[in-house]
Amino acid sequence: MGNEVAARLAARLAAETRGEVRFGAADRGRYATDASIYQVMPIGVFVPQSAEDVALALAICRDLGVPIVPRGGGTSQCGQTVGAGLVIDHSKHVRRILDLDVANRQVEVEPGMVLDHLNAALKAHGLWFPVDVSTSAQATLGGMAGNNSCGSRSIAYGNMVHNVLGAQAWTADGALLDFGPYHQASGRAREIGDFLRGLAEGLRPEIEAHWPKVLRRVAGYNLDIFHNQNQRPYTADGSVNLAHLLVGSEGTLALTRSLRLRLAELPRAKVLGVVNFPTFYQAMDAAQHIVKLGGDGTLSAVELVDRTMIELSLQNPAFAPTIRTALSPRINQGAPDAILLVEFSGASKAQLFPKLRQLVELMGELGLPGSVVEMSEDAPQKNLWEVRKAGLNIMMSLKGDGKPVSFIEDCAVPLEHLAEYTDALTQVFRRHGSKGTWYAHASVGTLHVRPILDMRQAGPQGGAAKMRAIAEEASALVRKYQGAYSGEHGDGLCRGEWIAWQFGPRITEALARIKRQLDPGQLLSPQRIVDPPPMDDTRLMRFSPSYRVIPLQPALDWSAWNVQNDPVTERTSAPGTGGDPAQGLAKAVEMCNNNGHCRKFDAGTMCPSYRVTRDEQHLTRGRANTLRLALSGQLGPEGLTSEAVREALDLCVGCKGCKRDCPTGVDMARMKLEYLHQDRQKHGHSLRDRLVAQLPDYARWASRLAPLLNLRNRVPALARLGERWLGISARRSLPAWQRRTFFNAAPASATREQLLAAERPVVLFVDTFNGHFEDENARAALRVLQAAGYTVHVAAKDQAGGSHLCCGRTYLAGGMVDQARAKAGELVEALRPFAERGIAIVGLEPSCLLTLRDEALALGLGEAAQTVAGQALLLEEFLAREAAAGRLEDLRARLAPATRPILLHGHCHQKAFGAVSPVLEVLRLIPDARPELIESSCCGMAGSFGYEASHYEVSMQMAELSLLPALRAAPDALVVADGTSCRHQIHDGAQREAVHVAQLLAQHLAG
Ligand SMILES: Cc1cc2nc3c(=O)[nH]c(=O)nc-3n(C[C@H](O)[C@H](O)[C@H](O)COP(=O)(O)OP(=O)(O)OC[C@H]3O[C@@H](n4cnc5c(N)ncnc54)[C@H](O)[C@@H]3O)c2cc1C
Ligand code: SF4
Ligand code: SF4
Repeated sequence: MGNEVAARLAARLAAETRGEVRFGAADRGRYATDASIYQVMPIGVFVPQSAEDVALALAICRDLGVPIVPRGGGTSQCGQTVGAGLVIDHSKHVRRILDLDVANRQVEVEPGMVLDHLNAALKAHGLWFPVDVSTSAQATLGGMAGNNSCGSRSIAYGNMVHNVLGAQAWTADGALLDFGPYHQASGRAREIGDFLRGLAEGLRPEIEAHWPKVLRRVAGYNLDIFHNQNQRPYTADGSVNLAHLLVGSEGTLALTRSLRLRLAELPRAKVLGVVNFPTFYQAMDAAQHIVKLGGDGTLSAVELVDRTMIELSLQNPAFAPTIRTALSPRINQGAPDAILLVEFSGASKAQLFPKLRQLVELMGELGLPGSVVEMSEDAPQKNLWEVRKAGLNIMMSLKGDGKPVSFIEDCAVPLEHLAEYTDALTQVFRRHGSKGTWYAHASVGTLHVRPILDMRQAGPQGGAAKMRAIAEEASALVRKYQGAYSGEHGDGLCRGEWIAWQFGPRITEALARIKRQLDPGQLLSPQRIVDPPPMDDTRLMRFSPSYRVIPLQPALDWSAWNVQNDPVTERTSAPGTGGDPAQGLAKAVEMCNNNGHCRKFDAGTMCPSYRVTRDEQHLTRGRANTLRLALSGQLGPEGLTSEAVREALDLCVGCKGCKRDCPTGVDMARMKLEYLHQDRQKHGHSLRDRLVAQLPDYARWASRLAPLLNLRNRVPALARLGERWLGISARRSLPAWQRRTFFNAAPASATREQLLAAERPVVLFVDTFNGHFEDENARAALRVLQAAGYTVHVAAKDQAGGSHLCCGRTYLAGGMVDQARAKAGELVEALRPFAERGIAIVGLEPSCLLTLRDEALALGLGEAAQTVAGQALLLEEFLAREAAAGRLEDLRARLAPATRPILLHGHCHQKAFGAVSPVLEVLRLIPDARPELIESSCCGMAGSFGYEASHYEVSMQMAELSLLPALRAAPDALVVADGTSCRHQIHDGAQREAVHVAQLLAQHLAG
């Protein structure tokens, strides 16, 4: 497609629609991938404001002969959403509920609506849409229909095709058709139905012979709607619904305008039986018997967790207690080879208990008495489902170029063959020098498995060659066991060529005729399903053998990512040995496998900027893709310092939400620091950069001029000048300078010698912010610790040179890594003697103290930094630890009871390091205190981010997502927030004064 066509297309879209027109290299690059291994550059990206825009775009593309690739969340695993045409992203704006009919349990939605958002809206009516895909927080209904998606509970509810009642869609000629019951169809829709019926009737014997007879088959088009081959009828009364032709057609036949969906009653009760198996084979063999317990419709899931995942969970301190609750000591002494999570759902637990008993009896009959762990309470069940998800995440976080690759991960076989099939496929992996971890939907014979392959390696031992070889052997097994090769995730680029293999030449030709009938001009996702390219065409891959990284010397230490792995043992080589020309930075960026988990709005922090803008550019995935493209030279010679990277990272607040929530641990906050350093090296630092970065250095002098400097907050003209010269928003107040600081009027504390001689020693690290601007926090912390019986030495007292100690955080934020290293190095050296003696180092400001446990370890400060990190704790972590050890009873006795409700807002870095629950534990030391946590993402202030004029609006929008509404809903509550910028944001946004937990404790200290 020539540049001239692209330019005309962009111009017409801009002139004739209200949508966003994105034709820059970075935008195209961000939409060139999905959760598959492929990458194809689109001609451009269009983000429609409304359905009308989609229709206009379709007409323009038809005029210009440009193909269209429709897209929702882009979480497809087979390359369904990548293509050389115009990508239309429905997920940002085209996402309304059009009609909700509670009485008839139906809903009509636009295609960009996300499943979880729909279910949140339905909850109040006791309803849900039950195709519960694992990606429910990001998958759109349009994408789910496109792929004929299937959820964990498909055994009870069926796949997407079983739950779509109708669709309005545009065919390539621009006609908007109603696809619904065939017998009611008229006009063009009727013609299409008649055409299909003719095809299906002519191919009846072929369909019977070739169509897999399993629930999970998503390959090709659903030509069997006229002669159902699925285990479950597509419609309740056996009639034909033409919308089912579009389900699973992957955007190749029509553009969906709306979908009418069948809803289900929300299950009121669930019980779980966890069956432990001595061998994996026995687990697979038992599935066929277990599903027979579901004759009454109460069996809702049978999900597998294998030995590898159990072990990974046991190694994780957060999950070990939960997974232990699922293990039966009577099977392999509590070390089963696999477990099956067998869930029953219904109206009441009482109705379900007999089902659990039947399960126990069944396992006894199968020779496994004592193998079932019964879980009837909701909380342990929920925890266990979380562990299953997390196990997969850990698997996906393997470092090195070998990655678990999804290409045969959803073959479906009849249950009676599951054991033999999985066994045989395991042998196949072994022969090809790889291995797979098995998980997921045992109930329907669709087990997920991804062999580890290195797609960058060329030749017969390379990823592409092995992928083909394994696929061929796997397909032979699928044929032997009469299964479906494509059983859940669709065809896309990866399985398109296997459609002919699955259905034979006559049906394949019929599918091509359907395509020609609906889309004769090949306008909609051409070369998908019909006439697809080979799956191992490396020109279509994100990491092909020709992929190259531009050499770069990063400022931070990324060597932990610069490794290779062994596909069988999954062991990684020593840090720094991976051969990354960017010393590990590129490999860290490439950890993003595009699964889209960051496109979420539920609990957790990730990703606040995306939550506000809903823009792929401002999403962790979009950022990682931008960095990957830049580091591999695909955005031009400027690499990391290009404008595209600046734009993508501009709204990243460095909250570390992704560090915690991203399944593969993409740490964009750290990447942003690296970018800032590289960028400022090239473009220089602004005055504002310097003012922010060097704050710890001039704070001591500035506090002497406090009354003068604070005029800025009182004289609007000065604030406006500040905005003009420095870009600091005039709408913000700045932290007020104080003449008296913690450092120039320090309260009494222990000397170093007294500390070393003490029985209960603690070192208090007072940071710049709590020392200079809110010294009452530091004083309160000292008082609380002393009241609790600790001998406290303040490490941040004036040093010989007169300045206090500093973690270097502000320098990092200003892109000054060298200065940050000097500051952090000084702090580490000062703290090391205490850390070496095992003395806790306690800090107050999350972003400062946690710098010691995070960035300081990437600054090349050696062993000392590790030693200090090992002892560095936030005040609440320290107190919670001590309370658990029974050492705070005296303090507890001295605390006066709470008189007001308490709300807690966690700082993002506290969340990233699991330091929020310790705050709650510490608050509960106060008698009668029942603190509640606000489910919030980032407050939006994020250091200096929210003070910057260019970020003010976004910053306030982030606060309005959940934090400020929660505060307004509880006007009497006392607000606790440990982050200095969080407190400031709460002040600006809700006109409330939040306090540090140290303050609240001190206020409750009697006497
Ligand atoms: C970690 C992970 C777990 C997953 N788990 C599951 C699972 O449990 N079950 C499951 O079935 N899948 C699963 N998937 C695959 C994927 O998430 C689902 O297929 C999901 O439904 C896709 O939704 P989406 O919005 O991302 O669609 P996209 O990937 O954006 O699109 C899917 C298809 O729909 C088409 N499409 C989108 N919008 C339209 C429209 N308006 N008109 C016409 N066609 C359109 C696209 O062209 C594409 O062919 C998983 C994927 C990942 C990465
Ligand atoms: S950044 Fe993480 S969560 Fe987001 S798509 Fe990439 S791997 Fe998934
Ligand atoms: S650090 Fe925060 S804002 Fe930045 S990408 Fe990660 S989650 Fe998003």
